[in-house]
Amino acid sequence: MIQRFISRNSKSNLLVILIIGVLLFTFIFFFGIKSNDEIHTIVQKQYSEQKLLISKQASSGIQEFLEEKTIIIEILAELMSDSTHGIDIGDFEMVYNETSDIYVIEFINESGVVNMGYPRQNTPLGYDIYEYERPTDDDTEYVLIDTFEWVRDRKETRITKPVELLEGGLGAFIWVPVYNGEEFKGVILAIIKISDISNRFLNNSNSPEEIYLMDNRGSVLFDSSDKYRPGYRYQVLDNSDLEQIIHDQMNGSEGTAYYLDNNESDKKLVAYSPVTWRNVNFSVAVVSPLSNVNSLIRSVYVKQGMFIGLAGGYIILGSLLIILLLSRWNRSLELEVSRKTGELKESNDLLKKANDKLIELDKLKSDFLSMVSHELKTPLTSMRISSEFMLENDPDPETRKELCEIFIRNTDRLTRMVDDLLDTSRIESNDLRFKKEMVDIRNIINTSIRTVRKQSEKKKLDITAEIPENISKIFADNDRLTQVFVNLLSNSIKFTQERGKVKIKILDYEKFIEVQVKDNGIGIPPDKLDKIFDKLYQVDNSSTRAYGGSGIGLAITKGIVEGHGGTIKVESEVGKGCLFILTFNKPEE
Ligand code: ADP
Repeated sequence: MIQRFISRNSKSNLLVILIIGVLLFTFIFFFGIKSNDEIHTIVQKQYSEQKLLISKQASSGIQEFLEEKTIIIEILAELMSDSTHGIDIGDFEMVYNETSDIYVIEFINESGVVNMGYPRQNTPLGYDIYEYERPTDDDTEYVLIDTFEWVRDRKETRITKPVELLEGGLGAFIWVPVYNGEEFKGVILAIIKISDISNRFLNNSNSPEEIYLMDNRGSVLFDSSDKYRPGYRYQVLDNSDLEQIIHDQMNGSEGTAYYLDNNESDKKLVAYSPVTWRNVNFSVAVVSPLSNVNSLIRSVYVKQGMFIGLAGGYIILGSLLIILLLSRWNRSLELEVSRKTGELKESNDLLKKANDKLIELDKLKSDFLSMVSHELKTPLTSMRISSEFMLENDPDPETRKELCEIFIRNTDRLTRMVDDLLDTSRIESNDLRFKKEMVDIRNIINTSIRTVRKQSEKKKLDITAEIPENISKIFADNDRLTQVFVNLLSNSIKFTQERGKVKIKILDYEKFIEVQVKDNGIGIPPDKLDKIFDKLYQVDNSSTRAYGGSGIGLAITKGIVEGHGGTIKVESEVGKGCLFILTFNKPEE
């Protein structure tokens, strides 16, 4: 079909298909680029939001953790301020054991000397901060003394920025004053190691991104990439993007930003979030390479591609299935159409045959009418001539007898004619009645031969009969069977040349008897054989006229034979004669 379509409108159609194809391709190409950009933007946005969420989770976790520790130390200080309770190392121990990740809880008395602490091994007992931080002219910062005095004077909790501990590692200090009324008793100092915080919240070896924690001076407290050691202070001079990020982090801002690392070609995304802990600020940052976005997009495309491939596959498979079903349907329709066409042709042929038959019957009817009138007219004419002759000439007794015989013969002929016509109509209406009795076929044959003797003698024909001695009797209508054989013999005599031969032979079988009537006359052409039993049928009209007859004799014969439950058929060869074979069932005993 496609081929026909193409060949019919070939060039213009191909051009249209080509233009549509190019337009479609261009559209898909530009649409693809645009949607690729959009997807990139969306994925990048979602990616940075996700990283910001990670940094927020980490920062809020740290914040809650530190706040919780601070409050616990404050409760401990409250407990110690109670004069009745006093200062008890047992409370320190309990708090230490109940709350995890406190490195040490110390008590510094009102003169600045560490005189108690838990656990013992982390406590520098007897450590005097005034002794250790003796003011000199060069020093500008006395963190311990300043904080001790600040806490004492302000009666407030204070956190000092993480510093290097004597035992190594960074530690943040929680200073809580202990007052009994207005009496200053000292300060509880709890140290939380930064490594404990980072281990708990930041050091996830499974996470693909780098995380760092810094304080608001730009000092690195923790860096999962190990690029910067704790205590390192960011000095960003040549990378304005990173400088801006560090600056925002030091200010306690929250957000995402990109920078290009000096040593690497890939841009990096930094998502940062502040940790506000009383008077200090930290900032948690999550650093991840932007190339991750591309691999994410790639995985989106791979999934999309797989989906499109799968959907396409299903569509193609579905289409193939539909085409298959349609073509099968089409084929069965074609078969149905050809079957129906065949049926139509068949019924057409049947109609044509019926029409031909009707035409033939019409012709037979007019032939019959002319035959009947001719057959009736002949005896009537001869009867009229005989009557007129008798009337006008007063003939002598001899002639009168002859004329009377002519009269009787013709009357018989007319009676036979009328009887034949009546029989035909009875056979037609299935109303042929029989007077059946046990009859001897030999008698019937002999009577029939006697009946046609005159005709046969006229043509000098030799009629013989071969009948077995003890031929079985059959249950039949004697007169009707005689009519059958008279008719067959008459036909044989009529259609056989002078001095011809007619032979009757009877065979006695177990269940039936067979009667053969054979002549060596003109015979019947093979194509006419099955028609001679039709009523009004005569092999050749013109020749039949020469032989006479009405064309209903064999139809009546067949009607009578079949009315007896018998069969009749004919075999013949043109010029050699005919053989009529009749069978009659023997009565069951
Ligand atoms: P018809 O009265 O014309 O003989 P039938 O019905 O007896 O009518 O026979 C039909 C036709 O069959 C005959 O017209 C004849 O053409 C053919 N026919 C019948 N018997 C013979 C025969 N013994 N030999 C040749 N033709 C025969």
